[in-house]
Amino acid sequence: MTSPTGAGRFAPSPTSALHLGNLRTALLAWLFARSTGRAFLLRIEDLDTQRVRAAAGVAAEQQADLAALGLRFDAPVVWQSERLDAYHDALVGLETYPCYCTRKEIAEASSAPHSASRPYPGTCLRLTAARRAELAATRPPALRVRAEGALSSITDVLHGESTAPVDDFVLLRNDGTPAYNLAVVVDELFSGIDQVVRGDDLLESSPRQAWLAHQLSGTAPSYAHVPLAVNAAGQRLAKRDGAVTLADLQARGASPSQVLTLLASSLGLAEPDEAVTPDQLLTRFDPDRLPRHPWVATQADAL
Ligand code: GLU
Repeated sequence: MTSPTGAGRFAPSPTSALHLGNLRTALLAWLFARSTGRAFLLRIEDLDTQRVRAAAGVAAEQQADLAALGLRFDAPVVWQSERLDAYHDALVGLETYPCYCTRKEIAEASSAPHSASRPYPGTCLRLTAARRAELAATRPPALRVRAEGALSSITDVLHGESTAPVDDFVLLRNDGTPAYNLAVVVDELFSGIDQVVRGDDLLESSPRQAWLAHQLSGTAPSYAHVPLAVNAAGQRLAKRDGAVTLADLQARGASPSQVLTLLASSLGLAEPDEAVTPDQLLTRFDPDRLPRHPWVATQADAL
């Protein structure tokens, strides 16, 4: 067998068990990676999790659920909490500045309060040295990148091209924790990940991340942002929506194989009652024929 070139990944946050929407995204990431001859890597995004032990338990459960569905990963698993030095090292090559704004100040200064992305208005870039010193005595700063309104374009397999101005987004939070956008980009470059498949709620992060990859002398990956799972009311699926995790469904008597069938049939890759393996799905997978709308995950009730 020839060794794979490039890699795809799945990058869950170990905050709670994976629900059907997460499992479906994982299956898609696996299909995209394997169908293009790539390795498939797992990264645990545990920078935000306060309770490290609980996070390790949740991460183990997530890995067991993915294995039960037959999704295998290539080693090694990357834990973001073990890579703090790498994120700090990456800052050296970037133009940055300290930011003393609170979330509230950022929201108030924003000219587009209802926009989900809330581009940072640049308040702390324009501080006088005296004012900066004054603020420095009151609270620790976050660190922002200086993007100077650069435009960034990405092409997504499902959404086409999008171009967006890059704002001065946060690299380090004011408690010193590396921000998601920094850690993701540093990790993709470190692991040789050149294909990012994830939920389409993160589509708008991609121009920023692609731009940052270039700033770090890397190449941006290819992107596929896949539709989310929603409940009967059209809201993003959540634990409160009933039996939505593999453990919940198994407790009701469903097997992992039935859950795989449910996910595959929601993607048009299997009949609703057909037993399938991930390898079989690989032979049927065609990104051009994937559903483009959110998946209403109520069929799980019938399992
Ligand atoms: N950790 C994120 C999540 O679980 C995914 C981030 C990514 O795929 O870039 O929603």
